[in-house]
Amino acid sequence: MGRRTFILLIVPLTFLYAQGRTGKTLDIYVIDVEGGNATLLVSPQGESLLIDTGNTGAAAPRDADRIIAATTDAKLQQIDHLVTTHWHGDHFGGMAELAKRISIREFIDHGANAQPAAATDAFLKDTYPQLYSKAKHTVAKPGDKIAISGLDARVVTSAGETIKSPLPGAGKSNPHCAEFKAGQNNAEDPQSVGIHVTFGKFRALHLGDLTMNKEFELMCPNNRLGTVDVLLGLHHGQATSNSEVLVHAIRPRVAIMNNGIRKGGEPMVMKTINTSPGLENLWQLHFSQLSGQEYTVPGMFIANIVDEQPAAMPIEPMTPPQPGATANPPPVHNGTAYWIKVSAEQNGSFTVSNSRNGFTKKYGVEQ
Ligand SMILES: [Zn+2]
Ligand SMILES: [Zn+2]
Repeated sequence: MGRRTFILLIVPLTFLYAQGRTGKTLDIYVIDVEGGNATLLVSPQGESLLIDTGNTGAAAPRDADRIIAATTDAKLQQIDHLVTTHWHGDHFGGMAELAKRISIREFIDHGANAQPAAATDAFLKDTYPQLYSKAKHTVAKPGDKIAISGLDARVVTSAGETIKSPLPGAGKSNPHCAEFKAGQNNAEDPQSVGIHVTFGKFRALHLGDLTMNKEFELMCPNNRLGTVDVLLGLHHGQATSNSEVLVHAIRPRVAIMNNGIRKGGEPMVMKTINTSPGLENLWQLHFSQLSGQEYTVPGMFIANIVDEQPAAMPIEPMTPPQPGATANPPPVHNGTAYWIKVSAEQNGSFTVSNSRNGFTKKYGVEQ
């Protein structure tokens, strides 16, 4: 065997090694579950935190498969921690299907359901205890840490309570509190488990579907969170959340909205996000009919389209149909789903990429 042959064997092995985890970045997959939530965080050491499991009913196997596509991409053998932010079907719906496909080692939630519903209460009585019987079950309290090596993952809200003292470096008075106007909400969204993650100088926040009255309790009179690099979720981009007391005070460089085709992204929210000081980009899981061309972001920042793509998007945002209206159902997206992936470095720089079109943008170290 000559010297030339030897080199040819070595090069592919080096290439394969480089495909594995380099042990340098925190990776975050924002997975399309059609206006629900499933957000996967993977530490440099390969430990994982999944926030929510997508939709219930007929959509559950589809959403579980979409989560598995992300765990496979991240080379995970198990999910170390699953946080269910709250007991709505678009957040816990795919859990039982997912548990058939991958081992889940810890189940974290806020405690009892605050909004009685037959299917949810049956799940909590019969199914959920079976799922966590061979794992760990934790009811989260504000201030709790979730043990993931390399990250500081902290519960900042749960069961309607918020952290009482500021995170390290936070606690300045919040100038947006004076203009705050209280909003309406259902009973479960305000119970959401909210997670703040620190990785070196990089910070990310996911508050589940926490509503604006709780945003006010968390952020006023003092901003207990400080600033973040990436704001995740945004309650699907709906107007019951996303007040200026939260968004403008935490000054995200990047926001990634888990909206659906006709869920979230309405003009009021788009205005609040796009006027947020220091915002560099808003990324969205879906084109939104509620944004219309007038309020949407450029398509390269949007991960998913619909199965039967219309020729053009109307300029005017669509007025959402009244609840219960059945005429003109939203377009569906059951085909290939794409994620938005964040890869963050300890120095606070990060890249965001769109798996549909390959568009990638680097956000450098803040000066
Ligand atoms: Zn979709
Ligand atoms: Zn939701």
